[in-house]
Amino acid sequence: GVRFHGVNKAFGTNVVLRDLDLDVAPGERVVIIGPSGSGKTTILRVTMTLERPDSGTVQIGGRHLYHEQHGDKLRPAREKHISEVRSDIGMVFQHFNLFPHMTALENIMLAPMKVHGKSRTEASDVGMELLNKVGLAHAANQTPGQLSGGQKQRVAIARSLACEPRVMLFDEVTSALDPELVGEVLNVLRDIAQEGNTTMLLVTHEMAFAREMADRLLMFDNGQVIESGRPADVLDHPQNERTQAFLGAVK
Ligand code: ATP
Repeated sequence: GVRFHGVNKAFGTNVVLRDLDLDVAPGERVVIIGPSGSGKTTILRVTMTLERPDSGTVQIGGRHLYHEQHGDKLRPAREKHISEVRSDIGMVFQHFNLFPHMTALENIMLAPMKVHGKSRTEASDVGMELLNKVGLAHAANQTPGQLSGGQKQRVAIARSLACEPRVMLFDEVTSALDPELVGEVLNVLRDIAQEGNTTMLLVTHEMAFAREMADRLLMFDNGQVIESGRPADVLDHPQNERTQAFLGAVK
């Protein structure tokens, strides 16, 4: 799972995460919603170590991410420790971030070979299996420029699965897609969710999808979780005024 405890993060005078506590159980699927600029992406980026928190602790699978335990004391972690804990996490971005000069298959093979020391054959086998899973075995040798947005995003998801992360982070992965391509990407997310053992943390504006697949919905505003519950409960009967206003505006 993922656990934030008392996490603060500011960019200059802009306080983005405010003493944030967050507890995502192993295998749980949590969707984060909230207004633009409220810090949803920052939660994922802090989890992925793309941003460092100013204070507080983050744990992944029970292990501290930014700290090392020495007896009963916590000390700032060394880079080696951070990258080891981070190897349990995969992230998919709004804008695919595929390497444009590599084929779909090569994109997927890269991390297993470079980071995990897999042989070319092993990495290629895993890559083909994953391309198959996202319905793109036929596109293995195409470069991103030859693929549609939905296909690129499915390759990006396959790539992030290649290192078998226990925690997957999805940051508005359908927002940059033409409407007719959204469904194919959501189907892949549904498949991952149905396998059931991956902890999933998703930022999305797809409320119908959140309702169907999330175990829990978090409404985030002003640096904190202001409401949390089963998706249907939060969406149909929001308790907090700001949640009511937000949901009223996105409907
Ligand atoms: P959106 O839905 O628009 O993507 P969000 O809820 O994901 O928004 P964040 O992207 O986390 O919000 O940004 C929260 C705030 O932090 C914004 O005001 C943003 O401008 C600011 N911010 C994010 N990253 C940085 C950065 N690297 N440097 C300075 N400010 C940043």
